Amino acid sequence: MQTVFSETITRVGAMKTIDTEFKREIAACPGGEHIMRCFACGTCVLSCPVSEVTADYSPRRIIRMILLGMKEEVLGSEAIWYCMSCYRCHVRCPQDVKYPEIMRVLRKLAVEQGYVTPGFITAVNEVDIAAQKIRRDMLKSILKKRDSITKEDIAEIRTLSGNGARGR
Ligand code: SF4
Ligand code: SF4
Repeated sequence: MQTVFSETITRVGAMKTIDTEFKREIAACPGGEHIMRCFACGTCVLSCPVSEVTADYSPRRIIRMILLGMKEEVLGSEAIWYCMSCYRCHVRCPQDVKYPEIMRVLRKLAVEQGYVTPGFITAVNEVDIAAQKIRRDMLKSILKKRDSITKEDIAEIRTLSGNGARGR
């Protein structure tokens, strides 16, 4: 599995194959129909909470790699597992590219083609459940005082999430 997307991009010269049918393979799957509409505006990147905390994660870049036929790099990358299916990118995409659905297709292909093991999928599911529990507990905490949230509360949440540098 590739470590980061920037590495993937720099490996283009060493790439074994380009699959020019990859974009059509994705477009033929439910949810992938609009992938070729992407005009690389970057709205998805600006909307994405994963991009906000993971500098080298870019939905736009993944779409470009698919359109360029970089099938092995995409299916073997870590990035396709980072998406948390929040749909913010899809809601804001001016071209109605259904990025979370495309991620679902890519994950299915990665499993079917042996890029990851069944054990890995189980581990990913456990991470998602654990993340939801943390989110639920943090939400419960702020819901108790929803009418009186202060700047200090926001700062505390940022500290707890390790996101203290935000808020610029
Ligand atoms: S917001 Fe939509 S059109 Fe813009 S880069 Fe992302 S996927 Fe492409
Ligand atoms: S659905 Fe995935 S890529 Fe889109 S904004 Fe949410 S986490 Fe980011």
